Amino acid sequence: MEDGSVLRIARARVKIGQAADSTLYPIRDSGACRFPECSGNWVGMSARAGHTVGMVEGSASAELRDAVARLFGFGGFRPGQAEAMTRVLDGQDVVVIMPTGSGKSLCYQVPAMLQDGVSLVISPLIALMQDQVNGLAARGLPATFLNSSLSFEALRHRLDQVRQGRYKLVYVAPERFRSRAFLDVLDEVRVSMIAIDEAHCISQWGHDFRPDYLRLRQVVDRWGEARVMALTATATPDVRDDVVRQLGLGEGTRRPPAVLVHGFARPNLHLAVTRAATHADKLRRVLDLCRPQHAGLVYAATRKQAERVHAKLRRAVPTAGLYHAGLPDEDRRLVQEAFLSGGIPVVVATNAFGMGVDRADLRFVAHWDIPGSLEAYYQEIGRAGRDGRPAQCDLLYNFADVRTQRFFLEGANPSPDMVSAVWRLVRASCLEGAVAQSDDRWTELAGGVANPMAVRSILALLERCGLISREPDPGTRAFVTRLNPGADESVLQGQFRLLDEKRLRDERKLKAMIHYAQSDGCRHAHLLRYFGEPDVEDVCGACDRCVRLRPEEGREPDEAQWLAIQKILSCAARMHGRFGVGRLAQVLTGSRAGPVLENQLDRLPTYGILSGMQIREVRRFIDVLLDRGALRIASGDYPVVELTPRGREVMWRRETLRAPWPRTATVPRPSGRSQSPDEHPPGASPDLVRALSEWRRRTAAAARVPAYCVLHNKTLEAIAAAHPDSLAALEAVHGMGPSRVARYGHAILKILDTARAPPDPNL
Ligand code: ADP
Ligand code: ZN
Repeated sequence: MEDGSVLRIARARVKIGQAADSTLYPIRDSGACRFPECSGNWVGMSARAGHTVGMVEGSASAELRDAVARLFGFGGFRPGQAEAMTRVLDGQDVVVIMPTGSGKSLCYQVPAMLQDGVSLVISPLIALMQDQVNGLAARGLPATFLNSSLSFEALRHRLDQVRQGRYKLVYVAPERFRSRAFLDVLDEVRVSMIAIDEAHCISQWGHDFRPDYLRLRQVVDRWGEARVMALTATATPDVRDDVVRQLGLGEGTRRPPAVLVHGFARPNLHLAVTRAATHADKLRRVLDLCRPQHAGLVYAATRKQAERVHAKLRRAVPTAGLYHAGLPDEDRRLVQEAFLSGGIPVVVATNAFGMGVDRADLRFVAHWDIPGSLEAYYQEIGRAGRDGRPAQCDLLYNFADVRTQRFFLEGANPSPDMVSAVWRLVRASCLEGAVAQSDDRWTELAGGVANPMAVRSILALLERCGLISREPDPGTRAFVTRLNPGADESVLQGQFRLLDEKRLRDERKLKAMIHYAQSDGCRHAHLLRYFGEPDVEDVCGACDRCVRLRPEEGREPDEAQWLAIQKILSCAARMHGRFGVGRLAQVLTGSRAGPVLENQLDRLPTYGILSGMQIREVRRFIDVLLDRGALRIASGDYPVVELTPRGREVMWRRETLRAPWPRTATVPRPSGRSQSPDEHPPGASPDLVRALSEWRRRTAAAARVPAYCVLHNKTLEAIAAAHPDSLAALEAVHGMGPSRVARYGHAILKILDTARAPPDPNL
């Protein structure tokens, strides 16, 4: 391939929502691909300066394109398919991560037909094998399946045919590798590819772990020549890494696998996080979403919460349904059916409502409480807008709600001490024989060692590692629990390490979820990066963050609102990012709450400067300021609020903010104590700040460095406030230091001098 020639490429820097493009791009250079996950030797291209794009549909692709058309009648590829096929045909192992329905099967079906030998497809879904094989057979493609639904005779007959090379594609369940006869046949044929469907089943961290999948490592090692393609719709980074590790991909003589993540973009979903301090705020937002003809789901974290929300919502939307796992089967069935048939437009539900919710026209999914992970969140919002039309996904966020998720986390991840205590209790209770007892009773007996959810988790764990067995006690809510003879409690030691790991993972997931709610950037980009999609654009135009940048949204603040805004921002500046939103509102309104006084926040000059406003009104302003990026929540264990660079500009009225500003019921008047925000920091005149900013701009431009390299905003303002009159005094200003003084000291003092000098009478 020559420089300057033109190729069709399968994937350029794909903008969220655009299909893979096949634009023509000129080749700039060739050699090893600079795409981070690519270890292949692709033609490197510059679609735009600095971007090496993915792969090239070179000669292989003509053959592939032809095969896809000839064998399957498809006119082209779905995103990611061509790359997966090309790489596996090129001899590389591939992990394919694409959502359900995005066309994963084709990724192995086509290469299977083009390669010598037999390809195995390992799938736990026995019920679907027949359909797949029928579909392929209808196209005249040589495929079959071997599983326990066949009679012994039929199985033997099929195995014979596999041995004779009649099939290119053989579907099997993982248990099949326990069969000697099957292994013998495989040793006689050439296995060219092992495709592992639902590959997340190999991961303990997946929701669907299958012990039989662990054996697949031996299968991969035994037929080392065969390429491996692992496929899943579970995009969790943990699971993805685990799949690679458990299968031993990239180990020994195997080249590192290509990990391809595609198709997670849902551009028709408008993603938003709405800060909502109270239930009333949340309800208002949900009612906004419940427009006539709009079907949607409201997810709540617990059954109790779902019931509460349902009761509130039903006053305005009498048809709203309720769904959670604690309701009688019949009620649940009725709600689900009515929702699917369109009889009920809105359902309030826990995450139990999901499987089988196959209604394409959902216009919104609202989350009353924050979920425990981005995986769960993505799955739940994924039910919106399946018809491809716009849908709104709104997370109603209040940091206090994280408590519920922490409670779940504690319950799902009991400590080793709790496990030991409950094990001792169960062992002592069951020594004489089986005991029929409800989980709640076990919790009582455990005497406050753990919450009921933790006790349930522990009993399940004891059962899983073979120490006890449990079966439902017919007609009651109890379980019959008995000790397993000969069980060895030392197995628990190994479990403790796993429990620790799982707790850490769950905590990381919850943190990632909180981070999503609090972060500044594009929501779509955030989700896609989390799931590992390559080449994500920073701005989608379809989330609250990106829309915020659109000036036509909202209106300018009026003077009263400006006053409130500036006071809030200057108070936030003075609290130095050490306190949360609630505390900020308390200080502004002059609350005498304990923590305010303990931290001596009443000594701040901004204490009580909005005492004429209700704390709730102030909170609404703060919410908008957060939403518009003038304030931000620093992510950490405790959510503290801080002023952003943008907020600083707004505070000085150097930048305006269009937004849906709340009406000020009580106009904040400058009170005796308060200063007008233009006087913050005290003594810093806006003119002086402007003069210093102008000097800084020129200096930075001359040195070709960003302005903050010359002086941080904070330092600049501190200088303006302190009015130092000597180099020594200047050096004492926070953020200056000897090297800045040496470089800029004289220039700064000159500006201060000019500002201090009386106006020139000659002018
Ligand atoms: P997954 O395994 O990812 O859930 P499937 O492999 O079952 O998805 O594919 C979903 C549907 O998409 C199938 O009906 C399949 O025929 C169709 N499909 C797959 N690839 C293409 C393509 N390149 N062009 C058109 N349709 C496709
Ligand atoms: Zn965006």
